[in-house]
Amino acid sequence: MIVGVIGGGQLARMMIPAAIELGVELRVLAEADGMSAALAADRVGDYTDAETVLAFARDVDVVTFDHEHVPQDVLRRLVDAGIPVRPGPDALRFAQDKLLMRERLSELGLPVPDWARVQTPDELDDFIRGHGGSAVVKTPRGGYDGKGVRAVRSAAEVAEWFTTVAEDGRGGALLAEELVDFRRELAQLVARRPSGEIVAWPVVETVQVGGVCSEVIAPAPHSAGRLADVAADVAITIAEGLGVTGVLAVELFETTDDRVLVNELAMRPHNSGHWSMDGSTTGQFEQHLRAVLDLPLGGTGSHEAWSVMVNVLGGPAEGSLVDRYPEALAGHPTVKLHNYGKAPRPGRKVGHVTAIGDDLDDVVYQARAAAAVFQD
Ligand code: ADP
Repeated sequence: MIVGVIGGGQLARMMIPAAIELGVELRVLAEADGMSAALAADRVGDYTDAETVLAFARDVDVVTFDHEHVPQDVLRRLVDAGIPVRPGPDALRFAQDKLLMRERLSELGLPVPDWARVQTPDELDDFIRGHGGSAVVKTPRGGYDGKGVRAVRSAAEVAEWFTTVAEDGRGGALLAEELVDFRRELAQLVARRPSGEIVAWPVVETVQVGGVCSEVIAPAPHSAGRLADVAADVAITIAEGLGVTGVLAVELFETTDDRVLVNELAMRPHNSGHWSMDGSTTGQFEQHLRAVLDLPLGGTGSHEAWSVMVNVLGGPAEGSLVDRYPEALAGHPTVKLHNYGKAPRPGRKVGHVTAIGDDLDDVVYQARAAAAVFQD
């Protein structure tokens, strides 16, 4: 069994040990030399070039992804060539375009923030007036880690975005959303096989700083009961309604008036699921491989009551993560470290740590303290 992964980042890297354990061969098409997944990257090439991707995919049993940016026409060429692509282009387009995603989720009757497609600054100003004087504006495509997301009080603040989307030949629209008054952000991960089997991990709380995920608590505190059921139902409805295969991450808002709204979708392993590698019977990378290979899925129970994952953002100002190993490993022997093999750079996700245990305060402390050793 050979799985081809397009994209050579840390998600592809973390599929490598899972593939080894399952006895699955992993091949990676990386964007550049020396990326996180270099260990399994037998090819470096442009994922927007159909011939490059077809040549890479020819000998694999299934193609999957480290990111959502492979263009639809390239994905369709793979499908036309008879190569299984999971998730497939019909599902993936909803993770590639936030306007399409909002339209489809609204059709499915799922709870989303109030939204509108806006093509001109006047339309955006109308939306802002109708929503208490504020809105969140998003570029429909290509955003990540909060890039392409801005809270505004006037269309003038995103004037240049209208110009950019008008020139990209895709209809020239932005997504306007109500500024959601949320208590916290949650994420619900599920995995689905082509044959329909689906499993859910517990809903988790995600903490973002400046649009970037910094910490994840699994399960989300005070989520037992209705909240857990609602989050799982929403994600299962999306996975089935959109025909997603592999891991699906649904980012959610828990509002101050106790509603659960869908923010974003990712159709691949996701930062909010990294805890599962050390905290769950089946980690998300193993589960993703099982799902895209249409193999029976693994249990999603937790080893301990709590798992806390903290991202190492940026890394040390000088030197590498490895330079800090003596201090980090000696001081935090119960914490699990994952180093993505990337050069430190301000704000960059260069690794994460996970702690598990039965006392939440202690687990949070352990994970934060261990991550802090790698940051200045
Ligand atoms: P990205 O695709 O870059 O991750 P998101 O759509 O997830 O972008 O938005 C990034 C962050 O911006 C979210 O995690 C949340 O904190 C904030 N955000 C996004 N949409 C809204 C909204 N409608 N109201 C309030 N905050 C929002």
